[in-house]
Amino acid sequence: MAENLNLFTSTQEVIKKALQKLGYDESMYELLKEPLRMLEVRIPVKMDNGQVKVFTGYRAQHNDAVGPTKGGVRFHPNVSEEEVKALSMWMTLKAGIVDLPYGGGKGGVICDPRQMSMGELERLSRGYVRATSQIVGPTKDIPAPDVFTNAQIMAWMMDEYSRMDEFNSPGFITGKPIVLGGSLGRDKATAQGVTIVIEEAAKRRNIDIKDARIVIQGFGNAGSFLAKFMSDLGAKVVGISDAYGALYDPEGLDIDYLLDRRDSFGTVTTLFENTISNKELLELECDILVPAAIENQLTAENAHRIKASIVVEAANGPTTSEATKILNERGILLVPDVLASAGGVTVSYFEWVQNNQGYYWTEEEVNEKLLKKMVEAFDNVYTVATSRNIDMRLAAYMVGVRKTAEASRFRGWV
Ligand code: GLU
Repeated sequence: MAENLNLFTSTQEVIKKALQKLGYDESMYELLKEPLRMLEVRIPVKMDNGQVKVFTGYRAQHNDAVGPTKGGVRFHPNVSEEEVKALSMWMTLKAGIVDLPYGGGKGGVICDPRQMSMGELERLSRGYVRATSQIVGPTKDIPAPDVFTNAQIMAWMMDEYSRMDEFNSPGFITGKPIVLGGSLGRDKATAQGVTIVIEEAAKRRNIDIKDARIVIQGFGNAGSFLAKFMSDLGAKVVGISDAYGALYDPEGLDIDYLLDRRDSFGTVTTLFENTISNKELLELECDILVPAAIENQLTAENAHRIKASIVVEAANGPTTSEATKILNERGILLVPDVLASAGGVTVSYFEWVQNNQGYYWTEEEVNEKLLKKMVEAFDNVYTVATSRNIDMRLAAYMVGVRKTAEASRFRGWV
């Protein structure tokens, strides 16, 4: 049978198992196996050449029993309805794992921002907000950055919403520039969260970060900051990559230099001659492997050849279910995406809280609160995994889905 590379159906499978383990019957699965709401929109945008191009966008709201839905908006050519649905379900799990008062949401627009001017991006961002305005809002569904969207895009979206609302609404969206009510520490939050879970996982495996060799796939927001944090902690970052190739140095790469040369989409390897492929990168000799790029990177085909003893998923969905099984059988500690990458939405929640109260915290306060959330989350998932003798992904899904299931039951939905 061909390997299941479909994120949506493999997510459903794990949710089903997690609910069964928690003692819920089929009706709870029926409720949670798909988003409650899925909006597809068409967004006309006047392009710089004077022609109108109509883009397709989505917003999925998985479940709002716990509170408003929350999750990023991605701008990418591969966005699809199924992907957005799966990603909204993961946001429910992330919010459950770090115990935030949210359900999961996610949005996306099929486009290639690398080929668009700033003006076109602004018009598309504003158009997306107008098109989805009926179902989003600071107490309904709160967007945030995701793949190829950033603080500037959040600023345009917030401005558009505020104009429609005739009210300044910083709590409409998170990941904003600091001057518009963004939170200190939000830009680095995903990488910060990944760093914390790497430290926790390393402790469990008696690995000293200072002696560790780390390979990071992807040099975007998560991957690049993570490389910096890891090298600041004294680890050797021996491999990094972007969409075009990978760099390897067994003695450790000069991360500050690479960060300096990277462009805003995370491209850096095109400046070098001696590159290796992304495929080779994943199989390098190292202690900790961090896929921080795209889906379906660790598969049944290469999982046998992974050398790391810890794999931490900073990207969403980098490991297939077959590969998860193989890595577990091989005794590799796999920290799943819904736990490892929950730092971003955690600090987004802090941003929203600060917007709502109108009082802003220092970066130290934000980081301290993030550390507490992530350590607790790791501990909870690790304890469920070891005490029940199940893999970390299933354990994370159990911890993640529990709150939404309970809230749905209290509300009498199931
Ligand atoms: N897009 C990020 C994620 O997938 C952040 C979501 C948020 O901050 O709401 O977790």
